Order: sequence, then C-alpha cells, then structure tokens
Amino acid sequence: MIGLISATAAGASARDRLAAAWPDRTRVYEGPVPEAVRAAFAECEHLVCFLATGATVRLLAPLLASKAADPGVVCVDEGGRFAVSLVGGHGGGANELAREVGELLGAEPVVTTATDAVGLAGLDTLGLPCEGAVAAVSRALLDGEPVALAAELAWPLPPLPVSPQGSYTIRLTDRDVRPGDREALLRPPSLVVGVGASRGAPVEEVLGLIERTLREAGLSPRSVAELATVDAKSREPGILGAAGRLGVPVVTYSAEELAAVEVPNPSAAPLAAVGTPSVAEAAALFGGGELLVPKRKSDAVPAMATCAVVRRAGRGRLAVVGLGPGARDLLTPRATAELRRASVLVGLDQYVDQIRDLLRPGTRVLESGLGAEEERARTAVEEARRGHAVALIGSGDAGVYAMASPALAEASDDIDVIGVPGVTAALAAAAILGAPLGHDHVSISLSDLHTPWEVIERRVRAAAEADLVVTFYNPRSRGRDWQLPKALGILAEHRAPTTPVGVVRNASRPDGSSRLATLAGLDPASVDMMTVVTVGNTATRTVAGRMVTPRGYRWQSGRAEEIR
Ligand code: SAH
Repeated sequence: MIGLISATAAGASARDRLAAAWPDRTRVYEGPVPEAVRAAFAECEHLVCFLATGATVRLLAPLLASKAADPGVVCVDEGGRFAVSLVGGHGGGANELAREVGELLGAEPVVTTATDAVGLAGLDTLGLPCEGAVAAVSRALLDGEPVALAAELAWPLPPLPVSPQGSYTIRLTDRDVRPGDREALLRPPSLVVGVGASRGAPVEEVLGLIERTLREAGLSPRSVAELATVDAKSREPGILGAAGRLGVPVVTYSAEELAAVEVPNPSAAPLAAVGTPSVAEAAALFGGGELLVPKRKSDAVPAMATCAVVRRAGRGRLAVVGLGPGARDLLTPRATAELRRASVLVGLDQYVDQIRDLLRPGTRVLESGLGAEEERARTAVEEARRGHAVALIGSGDAGVYAMASPALAEASDDIDVIGVPGVTAALAAAAILGAPLGHDHVSISLSDLHTPWEVIERRVRAAAEADLVVTFYNPRSRGRDWQLPKALGILAEHRAPTTPVGVVRNASRPDGSSRLATLAGLDPASVDMMTVVTVGNTATRTVAGRMVTPRGYRWQSGRAEEIR
C-alpha cells in the first residue's frame, strides 16, 4: 500500500490524480500532516509526500529504524516537477516508485542512490537473494574497481560490469559456501526439492528432512525454487507447511506425468498409494536437470517423508524488442526495460547506435552490418541457449519484416521468448498522414530479394481487387526501381487516378518528411528505402490536407451507404 500525504491545494490535486490512477494501491491520509506521516509510515510499504523535502525529513527522522524495514518514501514538490526518492531507494523501492510517480504526474524522477544514479543494477536489485559483502562489492563496481563474476552455473543475469579478474568477486552459486571478505554471493533459484509424504506427516519431519538433506549435500536453502510433489499431495499440511517456512511455492504433477519420468529409485509403495513408482525423484526431475541427491527418507520410525534434490539449468531469455520508427518517445517503456534487462544485445549496428545510451554498463553488444540477418538471429538464439538474457532488436516492430521470425525459426523450447511490440513504420506514417488506415488495410514489402516477384504481384493484385488500403515497405532502392511503378499500376486498374497516396520518409526521425500525392501523380523517383508509401482505397479522401479513409459503411435496406 502507498500512503499519500499532502498539505496544500496543489499537493492535494496531484495526490488525487495518483489516487485515481492507482485506486487499489493507494490510501489517502488526511488530517494534520505530522500525524498523517506517522500513521502512513507505520501502515504502508511506501509513502508519497506532496511536501517539501525539508519538512518530510524532519517528520521522518524520529521514525527511521533500518534500511531493511523502513518504507520507501518519495517527495513530490509543489509544482509537480520532481519526484524525489528520499528514503529507501533500493530496499524500500523508492527509486522505482519515483520513476512510476514521475511517469504518471509528468514529473522528473530524482534518484540519488549510487548504483541507480549511474545506471548500474545494484546487487540487491537483481531479484536474487544475495549475501556476504554486498555493500563492498556494489561500491567496488561503482568505483570502477575490477570485480570478477564467478558463475558456477549459467543464469540469465542482467548486465554487470565485471572483469575477467578482480580483487572483488560476485559468486553465483547454489552451494552452501561461506563468502570471503570481498565476495558477494548471488543465489539463483536453481534447486527443486521433490517431496513425498504419507498422510499426516508432520511439518517438522518434512522440513527437517529437507533442511538436513540440503545441509549434508552442501546446498543453500536460499537457492530452493520450489517443492515438487504429486497432485494427490497438493493439500498435505506437512508439505505446505514446509514450503511456507522455506518461502517457496509447491508445484504438483499428476501421477501419470510422474510415472513417465525415468528415476534411479522407483518403488512399489508410492505406486500402490498414489499410482506412480516415484514421487520425490520424479517430481524433482520433471522439468529436467541434474539429480544431486537421490531419494532419501526421514529418520523417523516409521519414516513419513522422502525427498530428492535436482539442480535445474537456468533458462535463457530472448527478448525480441521493437525500437519503434526512430524517435526516443516512440520507444516503449517496456522496450527500454528489456534493453536494460539484457546482458547481451544483438542487432544491426545502426539500430544499436539508436539506443546505446540506454544500455547498462557491462552489456555485451554483438552488432553486425546490413545483410547478416540470419547470422544475427542464430547468434541471439545461441546466446540465450547458453543461459544468458539476450535482447534482439529491430526497428519499428521487430516482428514486421524483421528479426523475430528468423530468430524464432531457430529457437527451441529450452529458452523463454519475450516479444516487445514496437510502433511499425506503417503506423508511424499513418499518424503523420492523418487517418489512412481507418478501414481494412495490408502491408506489402516490395523487396523481391527473398520473395519472387510473381508472389508479390499476386498479393498486390489481390489487395487491389479487395479494395484494401496498401502500405508498401521497402518500396524502392537504387537497384530496384521498377517494382513500385508496376505495383501502383496494378492498384490503378481498380482505383481512380485521384486516389490519395501518402509518402512518408524517415517518420519520427529528425530529417523526416511527408507529402500527399495521387495514384496518377506520384513520382516514384521521389521514393527511397527510408520511405513507406500508403495508397488509399476507393473511399479514401483528402480532408484539409490529411488523408482519411472512412471507417465503414452503413447498410440500409441492402444498400451500402458511406458514413461521412
Ligand atoms: N521492422 C520495421 C520494417 C523493416 S523493413 C518496421 O516495423 O517498421 C524496412 C522498411 O521499413 C524500409 O525500407 C521502409 O520502407 C520502412 N521504414 C522503417 N522505418 C521507417 C521510418 N522511420 N519511416 C519510413 N519508413 C520506414
């Protein structure tokens, strides 16, 4: 819950905008400000104070206890120009909240905690438990001192500015090792504990078995991702209780699914009880992985619990990210987040240049020149399969005449794929031209490098006959100059010579331009590869210099009548 406190009318109006936008996340504290701050501080995880920082600091000072427990506090100034992360930047989430509040109110987020301010992911913000010399290692990263990454297993980490050797170390490990003075441990959720339990097995017995098993195998409980068992045990109190105490979810599989998993130690007892020869081993091994500890029983007599431990490989992550047509403010926040989340970036050099300033230090950039499409796609998939977090970028939408399809044609199901849509050239151009896409429309690429011209021509003809608005991508290049006139000629067989045609070059880029022509009047020589050409349908009109395709037709007594 976010507590909202304000003192003035301007503050109250900004406060109300926040409350209206996030009705379920916010609570307004009215009344005298000092009491409101005290109450919100005690009751909420976050505070947004529409107060001067000085006043807020004085009110908060006596309440502050510790970085770990205090709420994150954001101050918004009277003019609504800044959202200042005041207390609890990392742990309290105030940095993130300042960004969110800033976005909502149109205020600039102000973040001063070191790691965030230089665009570095603080070790404690990676979403993995960390322990050991976390502050010292974060400081070393910031000061540019060499920090080495000792990754004992592949995991899709965000970028970290690490060097091959260093006097400080970040160790990614699920082993129960003691960190050195200059070492921080990151705990990947790589362990799955398969659990079997007889009805009524006590929590203490299940939990004791799991803890002892991990200890004796030299494994950290902080790396346990989940407890896995059979559906029939999904409500077994001993298992649920143990999971609750470990802070992990319980995942269950049907007896049939488990029976199909090959295990080293099948037995008759579970087969009779729940219909699978193995519960603990089979459930742990279900998603694949390495069996670190085969089935073992608790010491109780009779033993009521079994467990087995599997190490699962980290799944690589491939984000296919559309950068939009060019302008920074047409790049979506989600695309930005994925670019900063990836430790490996793959793309065409000119697109990389477009977003290089957004990348975090430590991002490995694999850029290549025009033409190397298939190789780029393959590289991105290979890197993800090695367990990295990869972003594969493309202009506009990365799925439109771009990298998504060659990449996914190569990808196997052992990686996660995240698609981030982008504003494609047809939409960027349409917004400049007016409303040319108000009714059914298609995009057609006139590049016959990978598609035979006969196929392209057939599609243009079909679009012409179906009276679809058509946007041509890749309309014309130095070596390909006859295709556009030919395509326009086919459309002209079904549309008037006066049909509006919009030509947009470098939409949303600094040297962008656009103009309106007609089907008969367009000079194809004025079109190049940085351009899209949108041809209206038979209903498209030019209104006040803008291209408008009516939304539809009203059918009355069987007759189509255009709505104007
Ligand atoms: N994935 C891109 C398209 C790649 S094909 C997208 O979704 O937009 C390349 C073609 O897209 C270019 O030849 C041009 O026709 C068009 N294009 C891309 N960006 C453009 C822009 N900013 N303005 C006009 N056309 C653009």
